[in-house]
Amino acid sequence: MAGEPQDDCLFCKIVSGAIPATIVRETETTVAFRDINPQAPTHVLVIPKAHYRDAAALAAGAPELAADVLRETQAVADEDKLESYRVVFNTGAGAGQTVWHAHAHVFGGRGLHWPPG
Ligand code: ADP
Repeated sequence: MAGEPQDDCLFCKIVSGAIPATIVRETETTVAFRDINPQAPTHVLVIPKAHYRDAAALAAGAPELAADVLRETQAVADEDKLESYRVVFNTGAGAGQTVWHAHAHVFGGRGLHWPPG
């Protein structure tokens, strides 16, 4: 069922503490942690604690939770004192999504080119 923890989900395991992560921020509904393979000086993932497979499912199934995730991207930027930053939701395999638990990538701390690769 949408929102329920999934046994085989890496990010659900980070939420439960079964897998360690470098947590930057935690709220009642979200967790933000540093990406294990950072692509920028700041590369933080913000996830809802509840399991939704991607950003589209999150927005459709729990719009207030989607707003919580977006709000936390700004909080992460504040935490790392970023004046500008980029938020990315890879949605679908063709866009490079590999972990099927909705997550926002927050990138910053270096120049960011457009369009992204
Ligand atoms: P991609 O792997 O193409 O970036 P996603 O958008 O699905 O695809 O992002 C998943 C992200 O999760 C990757 O940036 C990856 O480095 C990160 N990641 C995978 N395992 C861990 C982990 N245990 N702790 C922190 N980040 C992780």
